[in-house]
Amino acid sequence: MTAETLMEGVMEIPGANAVWLDPVAVLNRGYSLYLVAYSQYYSRAYFGNLNSSASAPSIGDGLAGSEGGTRKRKRKKTYTPNEKEVMAELRHQESRSAILKAHSLFLETRRPLISSKLNLENIPCSRTETPPQISTHSISGTSSTSLSEEAEVDFVRLSELWQAPLYELNILGNSSHSSNKTSCDLRCCEETDTRQTPLFGCIVEHEEEEEVLAECAGCIFVVPSHCRFLISDVSSIHKLIPERPVCGYNLILIDPPWENKSVHRKSLYPTLPNRQLLSLPIQKLVHNEGALLALWLTNREKLHQFVEKELFPAWGVELAASWYWLKVNNSGEMISPLDLQHHKPYECLLLGYLPGEKQEAASKETVQKGAVSEKGNVSLNTPPNKFVIMSIPGDHSRKPPIGSLLSQYAPGPSPVNGLELFARELTPGWTSWGNEPLRFQNLRYFDRR
Ligand code: SAM
Repeated sequence: MTAETLMEGVMEIPGANAVWLDPVAVLNRGYSLYLVAYSQYYSRAYFGNLNSSASAPSIGDGLAGSEGGTRKRKRKKTYTPNEKEVMAELRHQESRSAILKAHSLFLETRRPLISSKLNLENIPCSRTETPPQISTHSISGTSSTSLSEEAEVDFVRLSELWQAPLYELNILGNSSHSSNKTSCDLRCCEETDTRQTPLFGCIVEHEEEEEVLAECAGCIFVVPSHCRFLISDVSSIHKLIPERPVCGYNLILIDPPWENKSVHRKSLYPTLPNRQLLSLPIQKLVHNEGALLALWLTNREKLHQFVEKELFPAWGVELAASWYWLKVNNSGEMISPLDLQHHKPYECLLLGYLPGEKQEAASKETVQKGAVSEKGNVSLNTPPNKFVIMSIPGDHSRKPPIGSLLSQYAPGPSPVNGLELFARELTPGWTSWGNEPLRFQNLRYFDRR
């Protein structure tokens, strides 16, 4: 069996409802002057000698005795799971066979996939461990600031300062100088064709065919072609609402900052209470031909129930399919045993449809199936259920780039008018919003082509 390349960086696993995805190769389709560096994308944890028994859970690894080690020994033999745990286990069992099948067929084909095509085993893990944080003394312009090629900007912290409205983003012109990586060359280019825009609360558009560099707070960022972004808190999300539904979004990808103990403990990013998500103006963002919405979820049962019973009904989303992102290491093994109760090696992506203004007038059956498009009697592709995406995880919470996989299932215009909410990176041709959508656009994550 050989794997078939669906698109650059995405390979179909023969016989399975699944793909292998190389996030770096997918991201690099969108750049012509720069390349996302493998060594910067991947965190060290998933390379090297990991316990290869991770993918082979024993029968006893189920609900009651699932935590292993000392905790397992301390637990009473007569442990009775509560209602939520039982529901969670049932949900896990529903996904389990699809994931196991995808993974075992992936292992059969993984040599050609991982070794020769992607060459991941040779990736040097030379990432700078803790990048220096940029101090807050530099506000606008670069003349009094030294540009750093290693530091990171803490956008969330900057946005809370009284100086926040004074911060500017300097978009450096698309001249040959701007593609050079050194601070010195950037300064030359800045003098000739720099465009300035407030950093926070303003929609920034880059409409050209090639990526450009931008500078703010002493760091340099790569801004991909034809992209838009807004760096703001939820209070400014209304700025994304299109003037007319025909300019709305037909693919909406959302990875909310769900309240989560581990995120709090590690102070990774601020989280949002569920009630704030209920009030996001999702319906106002939708294209008049409707939209496909994809929502990332953690494995907490409480969250699944909230989405199914409250969030999707409040947003007007009709659930269409559940997908799974199975995280593997560079040997192809799952990053943790599949049946651990509190630490699954997969995350869930729920796909659903929102009707547009035009579809709302059509019959309910047409809306549910998305069967007829405005451009003729073309059948809309509906997403497969229990589809598995396998990849090696990068930074904490960083999701694989799945926009191009999803776009074939979006109603309305093609190429899609995509919107990512709570984004930490930009996508060519898409609009990205969140309080740190430039985070992974920092030049430190890229190499020159
Ligand atoms: N999908 C992203 C990725 O692949 O890297 C991860 C998104 S992370 C789960 C959630 C993001 O939402 C974080 O960047 C966080 O800072 C941001 N966020 C938290 N509270 C926010 C708020 N009130 N307004 C805007 N963004 C917020």
